[in-house]
Amino acid sequence: MIAKVIVDISSSEVDRVFDYETIDGVERGSRVSVPFGRQSLEGYVIGLSETTDVPKDKLKKISGVIDDRPIISDEFLGLCDHMTERFHLRKIDVFRLFLPTKLRGGRIKALEKNFLSVSPEYAETDPNLFIKKSAHSQLEVFEYLLDAKEAEQSYLNANFSAAAVRNLVARGVFSVRRQRVMRTPYSGVVQKTTDVKLTDAQSAAVEAIMASDKPTLLFGVTGSGKTEVYLDCIEKTLAVGKTAIMLVPEISLTPQVMRIFRARFGDAVALLHSGLSDGERFDEWRRLLTGEARVAVGARSAIFAPLTDLGLIVIDEEHDTSYVSESNPRYITRDVAFFRARYNGAKTVMGSATPSTESFYRAERGEYSLVRMPERINKRKMPEIEIVNMCDEAMYGNSGMFSAKLVSALDDCLKAGNQAILFLNRRGYSSYVMCRKCGYVAKCEDCDVSLVYHKEENVLKCHYCQRRYAMLDLCPECKSPHIKQGFVGTERVVEHVNKMFPSARIIRMDNDTTRSKDAHLRLLSDFASGNADILVGTQMVAKGHDFANVTLVGIIDADMSLHFSAHTAVERTFQLITQVAGRAGRESKPGRVVLQTYSPNHYVYRYAAAYDYEGFYRKEINLLQATKFPPFTEIIRILISCADESVALDATKLAIDGARAVAAELPEQFVYLNAMRSPKKRIQTKYRMQVLMRVLPNSAARARIYEVADSVTEKFPGVTCFTELDPNDLS
Ligand code: ADP
Ligand code: ZN
Ligand code: ZN
Repeated sequence: MIAKVIVDISSSEVDRVFDYETIDGVERGSRVSVPFGRQSLEGYVIGLSETTDVPKDKLKKISGVIDDRPIISDEFLGLCDHMTERFHLRKIDVFRLFLPTKLRGGRIKALEKNFLSVSPEYAETDPNLFIKKSAHSQLEVFEYLLDAKEAEQSYLNANFSAAAVRNLVARGVFSVRRQRVMRTPYSGVVQKTTDVKLTDAQSAAVEAIMASDKPTLLFGVTGSGKTEVYLDCIEKTLAVGKTAIMLVPEISLTPQVMRIFRARFGDAVALLHSGLSDGERFDEWRRLLTGEARVAVGARSAIFAPLTDLGLIVIDEEHDTSYVSESNPRYITRDVAFFRARYNGAKTVMGSATPSTESFYRAERGEYSLVRMPERINKRKMPEIEIVNMCDEAMYGNSGMFSAKLVSALDDCLKAGNQAILFLNRRGYSSYVMCRKCGYVAKCEDCDVSLVYHKEENVLKCHYCQRRYAMLDLCPECKSPHIKQGFVGTERVVEHVNKMFPSARIIRMDNDTTRSKDAHLRLLSDFASGNADILVGTQMVAKGHDFANVTLVGIIDADMSLHFSAHTAVERTFQLITQVAGRAGRESKPGRVVLQTYSPNHYVYRYAAAYDYEGFYRKEINLLQATKFPPFTEIIRILISCADESVALDATKLAIDGARAVAAELPEQFVYLNAMRSPKKRIQTKYRMQVLMRVLPNSAARARIYEVADSVTEKFPGVTCFTELDPNDLS
């Protein structure tokens, strides 16, 4: 027999499968040691076959099997195929996503466990015929299992009478299925430590999610109690012996959130957060693999939790951009989740107060079930959003970053002993150009996205088509010379607040202050425990925190993300405003939001202030349809980088020629195709160029374009060539 092996070596540019003669114990999914050149390396067996093209005298033999049983399950082998095909990844990079780094050199042992179900001949019969009236505990576990269909024996033993279970197994009422798994039988009992009673809306949501055979989009306003819905779904999943994955944006994995999960699920939960060392991560991974932990909570990569019998996947804040990985291996978490859910027959729920237009569109088309929770818990009101026109402020001589309204609101808030959040909507690196008098923003005539100012060349550029425009001296609309470009930084906000309110205690939260390992969590707990009056920060302060004392949210410069050079810029702005506004007035004190903008009439602010997500969605989806952006197309980018500029150019030429050939064959599939330098022209001495295209969704063109990228890699070994599907950021 011949084993097809993916060797764990990073230098191979092309994803090659090597043939080896097998030895005893090698199966599909086994991790093996193989001779490779003069070294011995680890590899993964992705298949077995009778034949090989390798001549007999050249064929080498596998030198050992590392674990007691295959470490890549059939599910993950299938997922690997799926991901390589969809996202054009190398198999070895995908396997590395599946396994913790610390595993290399380690070893996993095998185990078996029992699953019980009611034998078919008893399922349809009146239990009084074979369970005595007095045997309450037998009846109890019988009825439970009848409903649950299947459960682990250890789970039943722990939650019901073990003697009753034994008796029913002995009499054949329950049948036993023995399954070889890697995990130890689950020993802990899940205890409910809170006695929150779900509201009607929450119960209805849980029921709908657990009954749906499609993924569910849970569209619930901020503070509507989505977390309790997830927790209840997870509990119901565990109760039938299955496992669950809960994904949250990394930044929302706060101590508060982790405490909630610990309290509810105890040791049954594995928390995979960025603060873990490699060793700790491996331990959590192993607890999931062995079944000691049955709920994985974590950021994007937790979707690869090695759980079997997966019953539920939760994606909280589903619109969050962190669910799309932006460095190799690039993948879209939702797509992986759907694969795993399909494979396991698991439920999927994606929750958000501001679903991505793509998800809402799919829900409308019936691809997802849509569940709404339109009210906050206890019918608390959404905080009022007041829009301040900063052009007016400038006209009346206030050229600072604080409007009179925001200053007086801060004053009121501090006097009342409450807390405030000042939010700086600072996304990306780019800097747009705007007229301070009339709010005009320079945009690309072809693409209708904001132009980006490039200081070194003193020009404006469109990041979508690379068209260049001269920098403005006067506003083309109102002829004012007050052209503004650049950022306001968090430091400057803090300085200003300090001057205005010298006694206020301020915490600043941005990339600089959160660089160390736990800084982000520490700052948040500091603020939550009342050690500061004002939290000044970027996107990080916008995510799901629950601060009881915050009554004011100030949005310093709402336009920042609006003019980000991307087709999703307006949508992101709506999401950010809604998220950050949702931080105010979560407890009994009413909240207030002051939103400062130079474009007060932009529709995004009208819809956001009215909390009219669906109105906004309708406007946005029509625009996306008209301009042919996702979800009506897929964006594919081939990104080429090389230290030698002329080689990069040659490689790009090959790529665009190849792409043009595909487009000539499938013209109806292509909406846009062009080659250009990347907006970030050079990173770490490497020149970057790209071929950018938009094709119809799931077009046959995608696979063909991936082949084009492969041909570039083959022809130009010194060039790095990646493809991206629907990237967040085209920089
Ligand atoms: P969301 O995630 O939808 O923004 P949360 O899950 O954070 O909302 O819930 C908002 C607040 O309501 C939290 O403080 C939570 O503890 C509380 N809460 C949720 N469900 C209930 C309930 N059934 N009864 C009482 N309070 C609840
Ligand atoms: Zn103007
Ligand atoms: Zn353009």
